[in-house]
Amino acid sequence: TALERELRESKNLLSHAMAGMSDGIAMYDSKGFILFCNDQYRNAFPLSGEARVVGAHISDILRRVVETGERPGIPDDVDGWIKAATASLHSNKDEEVQLHNGDWRSIRTRLAEDGTAMAVVSDITATKQAEIALRLSAEQLKSLAETDGLTGMVNRRAFDEAFARETAGSARRNTPFSLLMVDIDRFKAYNDTYGHPAGDQCLRVVSKCLRQSVSRPADIVARYGGEEFVVFLPDTSAKGAMIVAEQFARRLAQENIAHSGSEFARVTASIGISCATGAVLRTNPNRLLTEADAALYDAKTQGRNRILAHSPNGERHAMKEAG
Ligand code: GH3
Ligand code: MG
Ligand code: MG
Repeated sequence: TALERELRESKNLLSHAMAGMSDGIAMYDSKGFILFCNDQYRNAFPLSGEARVVGAHISDILRRVVETGERPGIPDDVDGWIKAATASLHSNKDEEVQLHNGDWRSIRTRLAEDGTAMAVVSDITATKQAEIALRLSAEQLKSLAETDGLTGMVNRRAFDEAFARETAGSARRNTPFSLLMVDIDRFKAYNDTYGHPAGDQCLRVVSKCLRQSVSRPADIVARYGGEEFVVFLPDTSAKGAMIVAEQFARRLAQENIAHSGSEFARVTASIGISCATGAVLRTNPNRLLTEADAALYDAKTQGRNRILAHSPNGERHAMKEAG
């Protein structure tokens, strides 16, 4: 009859479409057995594809996935994982899974009213790789934007953010936060005598000495200006900051960079230290910068090549001759 022919033709049309579509498609009955799937569905899973045939149960397919190592990162409790994944077959969900060979598949599962589950699988490897590459280059760009090209330190741009974050952290933990402001002595004369490239090299050595003088992961060394550096020392007392400053002065002295224009005949630095805790740290962290700057200024006027700590109580400075 005409009706039968129409039905037959539409069935042909449907299987033609299923066979020709780019996505993999599978239909599971309410108990978890495959009612139908196309070749693309099998091919989408290179290691467990053979197990994906009409009449196969989802839990056996998943066991094959585990046994072949097709999906990395499956928890140690294999039976538990298979049980949970089997149970969740009959729920609407969109998943993105990575296969053993690095390829990515999107699996979209939709539940019909009669309890059958329809799974559509697409190859999203290219999109996923582009996404990962994009995220990576965004991270690289961010780190480039926050790093000083000459010294590899945190630059001025990232400084404010790190300063706000670290002072807030110490305030919250109710611990002291110390800051070192470091300025190379007679650096203009150094450039004038030895040339700008030698000046740049000197800056690299100074920054190396600074980095070697801090030991905790939370310590941050930043390039604050041309030949000025700032060191953040979270959870560190003024005494601890003094030890770091002395360590740096000692290392710089050991480098023994000749500087004919300096009263010390070698490259030296002046250092101002400030320290704050509690309420000041919370409400006025910028005071740390002002105080370290003032201490640094005094270190300069008192003869350079020295470390001065801003003193919070009474006398203005605790002084220390460096190197
Ligand atoms: P003081 O002892 O008082 O600190 O004297 P100074 O000469 O170090 O201080 P001043 O601020 O007058 O000079 C800083 C000089 O640092 C100016 C510039 O020649 C030099 N400088 C700043 N940035 C760079 C840089 O990136 N590379 C080089 N080679 N020199 C720089
Ligand atoms: Mg300066
Ligand atoms: Mg200077």
